[in-house]
Amino acid sequence: MYRATKDIILPTTITGSLPRPSWYTENLGTRHFLEAMVTRRFREQYEDALTCYIRDQELAGLDIVTDGDCRFDDDVGGQSWTAYPPMHMSGFERLNPRPTPAGRGGIAFPRGHILHDYLESRVMPVVTGPLGRGDLQYTAMWKAAQRITEKPVKWGAVSAEIVTFAVQDAHYKSVPDRMFAIADAFNEEYHELADAGCPVIQIEEPQIHLIAVRKIQDSVITPKLMVEVFNRTVKGLRAKTEVWAHSCWGNPSQQRMFAEVQSYKPALEAYNTVDADVITFESSSSGGIDLEAIGKTISDKKICIGVIDHHTLQVEQPEQVAAQIRAALKHIPAERLMVSTDCGMGREGMSRRHAFYKTVALALGTNIVRKELGVPQARVLAADDRYSLVAPAK
Ligand SMILES: [Zn+2]
Repeated sequence: MYRATKDIILPTTITGSLPRPSWYTENLGTRHFLEAMVTRRFREQYEDALTCYIRDQELAGLDIVTDGDCRFDDDVGGQSWTAYPPMHMSGFERLNPRPTPAGRGGIAFPRGHILHDYLESRVMPVVTGPLGRGDLQYTAMWKAAQRITEKPVKWGAVSAEIVTFAVQDAHYKSVPDRMFAIADAFNEEYHELADAGCPVIQIEEPQIHLIAVRKIQDSVITPKLMVEVFNRTVKGLRAKTEVWAHSCWGNPSQQRMFAEVQSYKPALEAYNTVDADVITFESSSSGGIDLEAIGKTISDKKICIGVIDHHTLQVEQPEQVAAQIRAALKHIPAERLMVSTDCGMGREGMSRRHAFYKTVALALGTNIVRKELGVPQARVLAADDRYSLVAPAK
């Protein structure tokens, strides 16, 4: 059901992660969130970082905010995005984590490539028993964020298949068995989160499009199976809250997984069958090549397009953002269009200020189009010239 995006034309948000403040030096590791929050230093740093993440998004005038993925450790390439569930679910042996062989999930980079470091940092706990939610504690972390803002806080986390591909397994008989066990555990966690009032739950990176273009499909691992895993993960949730499927072409160390621009076209029919209210597509970095096909194929869900490139440090101009939104409006009606970053900006490599001003540009560019459409604009305090510290140009 539509909750956070109800009654807003061109709602704005970011994907999730934001660059860590340099002073946020504490890490969760294998401690669970409530356990870590007992220690004064962790609690202070976590709550202060969370406040910065959310306040920056409010200053930029976003409609829907995130917690910046505040739970992540300060690791190589933002590996915590994948590693957080294995580090906190039940059924994993955490005392002896093992490196993931290259090639798992179709991910392989040679030595000398920056993402080879990312491969080497996939050192994950091993599955040794039946998987369960354990101490994911998504609800507690979402509450910690939602209690300091009036804006809706979107909760996003990694998909079941990404975790499945990254871990080794001494318990389940097959990859799909492991995948569905993780999906079921996530589903239980998300129901608790939805029941607590979370207004948007975002499943990050169903592998539908990556498997479609990588052609690593075999008779088992197919885009269709990925849709089944997604739908199992979110089963029953749309009766309670708004469900998003986030897709992109990668963001560890702010890199895409491919040297060339990829098209979503081989995966759009499958995407149209996911049990979600909103699907997000990376669009800015690819020059909007798929907008027409997305508009034609995604028939009833809302569509969120990326208008900010998370791979580059060049901050987009509001007019560039507006141009991308206008291009999307040729194929997607305004009532079904939403605006975001292509992906998260906080998986190592971008400064906080770059991310902040990209977010401001996102909101200002959306306001340009809102003005053209005659609909309410967002207040962007970060761009209010009355509070400039320099005298105006003569
Ligand atoms: Zn992404």
